[in-house]
Amino acid sequence: MPAPSTTPTSTASATAAEVYDCAIIGGGVAGLTLAVQLARAGRRVVLFEKETYPFHRVCGEYISMENYAFLCRIGVPLDQMDLPIMTRFTVSSPTGVALHHPLDIGGVGITRYELDQLLARLAAEHGATIQEGTKVTDVVFADEQFTLTTAGGATYRARTACGAWGKHANLDSKLRRPFLEPSRQGRQFVAVKYHLQVENFPQDLVEMHNFRDGYCGLSPVPGGLTNCSYISDVRNLRAHGNRVAEMERGVLMQNPLLRPYLQQAQRAGTAPIVISQITFRERSTVDAHVLMLGDAAGTIAPLAGNGMSMGMSASFLLHGLLLDFLEGRLSRAELEQHYTRAWRSLLSLRIRAGHLIHQFFGRPALTTLAIQALKGLPGLTTQVLKLTHGKSY
Ligand SMILES: Cc1cc2nc3c(=O)[nH]c(=O)nc-3n(C[C@H](O)[C@H](O)[C@H](O)COP(=O)(O)OP(=O)(O)OC[C@H]3O[C@@H](n4cnc5c(N)ncnc54)[C@H](O)[C@@H]3O)c2cc1C
Repeated sequence: MPAPSTTPTSTASATAAEVYDCAIIGGGVAGLTLAVQLARAGRRVVLFEKETYPFHRVCGEYISMENYAFLCRIGVPLDQMDLPIMTRFTVSSPTGVALHHPLDIGGVGITRYELDQLLARLAAEHGATIQEGTKVTDVVFADEQFTLTTAGGATYRARTACGAWGKHANLDSKLRRPFLEPSRQGRQFVAVKYHLQVENFPQDLVEMHNFRDGYCGLSPVPGGLTNCSYISDVRNLRAHGNRVAEMERGVLMQNPLLRPYLQQAQRAGTAPIVISQITFRERSTVDAHVLMLGDAAGTIAPLAGNGMSMGMSASFLLHGLLLDFLEGRLSRAELEQHYTRAWRSLLSLRIRAGHLIHQFFGRPALTTLAIQALKGLPGLTTQVLKLTHGKSY
């Protein structure tokens, strides 16, 4: 598979008169896979991404096998990309008690730097307009149409609008989304990601090491690199003067199985990427008629689930319903109701199970107890892992 060499380009330029079938805000895996599917179905799609492809993001870059057939079907040639395939899992407690277990469903490793650019290019090849480096600052619904305004002051019109802007974005406040209400404030997390050069890191293994109020994943990605990404309660960072390196020394490295990686492995390429203000509160799937997908519809803790899978399966679900609406088989009210219902039945159990698992881990004594118990219960471990993966679609 040749490395993507060109940045996606707009195949159609927006004119004042043009009304798109669908405007997608946010070009991560959820928004991009939706854009590819709608564009392949011949629909006029515009996608806005505030960054410019390719770029690195905080993500473990493990894609559950449940998405393999879907990604190949929409044109991502995973089978030709020589990706690491992970079939084993190790989880450790903050004190270093470890459990090793097969990963029945498994997954592949691919960098977001490569995947997102590839998807953006695919969408553009199918006729979608990809407006990268373009931040949407407002989206308003009136007279059966959405008007989107960008930071540059341009406006775009569309019959439908989808919010795929991730965990936390300017538009959450703009739309006054209920999950932001002060009464629903919960714990806040920060997340950090970088690539490491770890000698002989097994190509078929995912490691998840807990530390106090957080956990760190290690897994292979192409190019002989190891993805190292972790999530931590923001209090750990504050307690270490908001310095990531200090927090790693003071908290993460207390786990004896994680320490050697952080202490000895060389960092590859770019500086660590850090994101903050992560919360796992429940969100709505429709706000102000904007249909939400990916992390914008529900963010799952990485230990407890595969956020990318949830975003992509929501895009698969939503693209079918959007086509029904655009072709007159559903009213807007039906589109919103059907999507909400279908999203809940597909994903809300996973989100709830995720919250439960997430509560359990990161607490030193509880995590150690849980891992010790699971060591004697391989059947239960298989069931817990199943909860974090979905079915092929
Ligand atoms: C530490 C960590 C590890 C993880 N590991 C994994 C893993 O291994 N496997 C897995 O499946 N999931 C993992 N996840 C979860 C996964 O990264 C997310 O679920 C996934 O990236 C969500 O995709 P998305 O498309 O919804 O949002 P994102 O990928 O966040 O994309 C949203 C995009 O919207 C853009 N945007 C925001 N606002 C605007 C605006 N106003 N205008 C234009 N553009 C805008 C942003 O720039 C961004 O590119 C992990 C998460 C964390 C924090």
